[in-house]
Amino acid sequence: MGSTSSLKSSPSAAAIRVLLMCSLVLASGASHAKNVIFFLGDGMGISTVTAARIFAGQSAGATGEEYDLAFDRFPHLALIKTYNTNAQVPDSAGTITAITTGEKTRIGVLGVNGSVERDDCAAALTNTLPTLAELAEQKGMSTGIVSTARITHATPAGAYAHSPNRNWESSASTPDEAEALGCKDIALQLVEMSHGDGLDVILGGGRREFLPIEADDPEYPSRPGLRDDSRNLIDEWLAADSKRQFTWRGDEFAQWLASDAPVDGQLMGLFEPSHMKYEADRQRDPGKEPSLQDMTALAVKQLAENDQGYFLLVEAGRIDHAHHFSNAYRALTDTVALSDAVQWAVENVDLADTLIVVTADHSHTMTISGYPRRGNPILGTVETEPGKPILDATGVPYTTLSYANGPGYKKQRPNLSKINTQDPDYQQLGTVPTQSETHAGEDVAAFAVGQNAAAVRGVMEQNRLYDVMYDVLIAP
Ligand SMILES: [Zn+2]
Repeated sequence: MGSTSSLKSSPSAAAIRVLLMCSLVLASGASHAKNVIFFLGDGMGISTVTAARIFAGQSAGATGEEYDLAFDRFPHLALIKTYNTNAQVPDSAGTITAITTGEKTRIGVLGVNGSVERDDCAAALTNTLPTLAELAEQKGMSTGIVSTARITHATPAGAYAHSPNRNWESSASTPDEAEALGCKDIALQLVEMSHGDGLDVILGGGRREFLPIEADDPEYPSRPGLRDDSRNLIDEWLAADSKRQFTWRGDEFAQWLASDAPVDGQLMGLFEPSHMKYEADRQRDPGKEPSLQDMTALAVKQLAENDQGYFLLVEAGRIDHAHHFSNAYRALTDTVALSDAVQWAVENVDLADTLIVVTADHSHTMTISGYPRRGNPILGTVETEPGKPILDATGVPYTTLSYANGPGYKKQRPNLSKINTQDPDYQQLGTVPTQSETHAGEDVAAFAVGQNAAAVRGVMEQNRLYDVMYDVLIAP
């Protein structure tokens, strides 16, 4: 997909161009990227990256520890401090706001500064922060968002929405008083985005937030929309521009992806009423929803049409959900799906004019522990040799992966020698009983390759990732 023209030049011409580029870079002090692709694994803490790497390697028949995910091979990385202004352990709304606006803010709010208290609509209206996607649209660039979560969920909404409560995804979940004051729900903000011509590619889940109670879902007719204002926002988005196209079907998506040329106009694909399926369950979807890699590929094909460049946000949104459910298997398979999407990007964009950043918004409480032998199945019990588990102080085996808290808590430790802990539905044990396993507060990693990637280094505040992208995409 990237330009190969420089490869065809004669050596001397190429050398001169390199010299010219170097002097330009030195003169300006910063490089310039035409495109930025920002990948976020929701909840993809460092232990998740390590475990997913081992899982991927073992799935390929290797011992696993030595294996590399796509971003393990990136040349630049940093540790990221993820706290929100009022929270030691953050949520996805506060953290994505830090990344897309350059300012840390409170837990639970989106696209507004830290003076805005949760649910305070009036304060939110006067304290909005511009996002990278909005700035890119204003510059005439193309923009896209891709997520396996609802497209109105915190991370993708961080590209376009400003709200004192991340849960105000449709009119039904937004208080009437807030709507009377002028606060719009998040789905409405997406379809009414006024910067440039609005988002050009929108791929993910969350149809119910756009459809009224009166409308049946196209894929699951028994599940109506959520909106209580009788508005069909998909129809409204389509009506605003005759070139826009919408699909909920995997076969139609596949046609868009297979065509050599980009599809004319802006695209919206919403493949589930709520979140898309976990990668492990995707094949069973009646509508044949696409993979994160294929959604990334279609987005890049569409956005690369614009000579001004593009900003693309891609979220693996459900690593987080699987962890909250104490289900390491689905968290790891969704992390590998993110790696596949990143690998596709590395192989298909021109890194001479593109910056790729991969990070997480926050961690989870999963740990990798015990002294399992080299190559021991990452989802298995801790063993010194196959079939020889190390026993805990009470005389029963334990798994390599476990959580500090969560629904996997058991009053009495079960005898795992009779349980298949590698079953996809197995819930790892948690020490503290909580209905939902929680986020964790230690640093996450950020990985970068391409233009300005070297600015990702050391221990960084999360909102400084904004600068890394802004400096090459918006500032020049
Ligand atoms: Zn979460």
